[in-house]
Amino acid sequence: MLLVTGGAGYIGSHAVLNLIENNYNVLIFDNLENGHIETVNTLIGFGNVKFVKGDLRNLEDLENLFNSYNIDGVIHFAAFALVEESVKKPSKYYINNIYGTINLLDTMIKHNVKKIVFSSTCATYGEPKYTPIDENHTQNTINPYGYSKLVVEHIMDDYDKAYELKSIRLRYFNVAGSDEKIRIGEWHEPETHLIPNIIKSAINESKTFNIFGADYDTKDGTCIRDYVNVLDLAEAHRLAYEYLLKENQTEVFNLGTGNGYSVKEVFNACEKVLNKKIPVEIKSRRSGDPAKLYADITKAKKILKWEPKRTLEESIKTAYLWENYIFSNTASNMLYK
Ligand code: UDP
Repeated sequence: MLLVTGGAGYIGSHAVLNLIENNYNVLIFDNLENGHIETVNTLIGFGNVKFVKGDLRNLEDLENLFNSYNIDGVIHFAAFALVEESVKKPSKYYINNIYGTINLLDTMIKHNVKKIVFSSTCATYGEPKYTPIDENHTQNTINPYGYSKLVVEHIMDDYDKAYELKSIRLRYFNVAGSDEKIRIGEWHEPETHLIPNIIKSAINESKTFNIFGADYDTKDGTCIRDYVNVLDLAEAHRLAYEYLLKENQTEVFNLGTGNGYSVKEVFNACEKVLNKKIPVEIKSRRSGDPAKLYADITKAKKILKWEPKRTLEESIKTAYLWENYIFSNTASNMLYK
């Protein structure tokens, strides 16, 4: 069975959905600190999914997990992933993302499980020296979140040399959208990400949307990012795992679309898709944000035979449908506090 750490979270849960729709048996391991039991229950309703609540920082939880299930490989999502929070609380990021991953890798080695797909990030590149960014770009990360992921990439190289652990590191750019049938979606508390925040302001007009910085050195002064649809991203994980099974080779791939959109362009696209004026204000920059990040995805296209299929507009649409679903669910209205 395939272990998915962080499978109750946003990207992890969409990957689980893709895996079960492709007949995998999946074991979710999640501490539910950011993930949701409702998401797990939905996934259990759709396929062959088991769930164990546990924490990567607790070696005993991992030991019990690997003793209880026959695990063939791992897709490792579980991590804290907010740039600004990482600047304020580096210890939280280093302990969970680095120490927690070492626990996972050591338990894998102990149980002779030697294949892992890892959620890395474009934040490992830091301020780009050129765009689009390819996998050979220097990794001079500028925040603790990026650093925590970069360190794990190096650790995986060392474990490959020492123990023949084979890893595929997927460096995500920005992720957006939801399951098209609106069974699961992006559900962060509090929400910090661009598209859900714009949508929240569209649904609840008393909540002005804030643009963090309009004085960057970009075409309209706002940050440029590359927004890949979460279902396309989920598909890439399955392809990466299948590549690992076939080739047994450590690799790294960027996952984005190859197109950069500014915050203002994303905002305008939301107004257009939702056919609505959304209240907006320009605020000062958020710490840790590079001006411009977008991907060169030639390598993933060529080697994984992966192609992102969905547009920014489609991501906005499913994100909106999901947000509306949560908003109209009274039990979840607390999300808007
Ligand atoms: N952003 C913004 N307002 C928000 C949330 C995000 O202006 O309410 C900007 C943020 O400064 C960054 C871009 O949108 O330039 C994408 O941010 P997000 O948090 O979605 O992803 P990140 O790039 O941090 O992974």
